[in-house]
Amino acid sequence: MKQRNLLTFTLFLIMLAVAAMTVYLFNYQQESKDGPLASSSSSSVAASKEQTVAALPDVSADDWELVLVNRDNVTAEMNPSLTEVDGVAVDSRIADNVREFLAAAQAIDSSEHLISGYRSVAYQEELFDNYVSQERADDPSLTQSQAEELVKTYSQPAGASEHQTGLAIDMSTVDYLNASDPDVVAQIAELAPDYGFVLRFPEEKTSLTGVGYEDWHFRYVGTESARYMTKNNLCLEEYIALLKERD
Ligand SMILES: [Zn+2]
Repeated sequence: MKQRNLLTFTLFLIMLAVAAMTVYLFNYQQESKDGPLASSSSSSVAASKEQTVAALPDVSADDWELVLVNRDNVTAEMNPSLTEVDGVAVDSRIADNVREFLAAAQAIDSSEHLISGYRSVAYQEELFDNYVSQERADDPSLTQSQAEELVKTYSQPAGASEHQTGLAIDMSTVDYLNASDPDVVAQIAELAPDYGFVLRFPEEKTSLTGVGYEDWHFRYVGTESARYMTKNNLCLEEYIALLKERD
């Protein structure tokens, strides 16, 4: 009986040692895997960020082309001076850029057309409220705030839409969001910077822009900034943060 107890105790000790060894080895591996690699990758990120800041174009976050309007930067009625291009109103200062960008897009796909340009804050509010009513009519179990949250996934509340700047256009081959041929969208996004535009809401930047992917929404930021943002894969929020960091 005593011998059996001793055997059990010894087995227990062996198991404990094996368990301790396993934990130790696992931690050691994790450390060697994360330790040097993590520090080397973060230092290369820091180095490339310095290079990115050093190469920033000579523009200011306060320039009119770079005005930032989103849910964190709700803006009152801006009343830009407007010019119509193909039946869509845009800030007069970018009318030529819009016209040329549209022509270049049509050379890629003749069905490219403008869908939307300037929208006043008042009109955006009306649009948003209509969507909310529509959602509540479609699903009467939704509360007002639930319906608003749902609408925010595809439309901006008053004061938070970039269309109120007159510097944003929706342009597509079709009248539905994200229904255009992705190859055509990619080609147009590539030539957009030559006319001062960027594809404003890319798929991988949703967490930063607060807006889901939109294949038709282009924003005028000026040629230099558009080229820089595209080359460095920066959305407007990231780009403006870099400019502010430098200045
Ligand atoms: Zn849009």
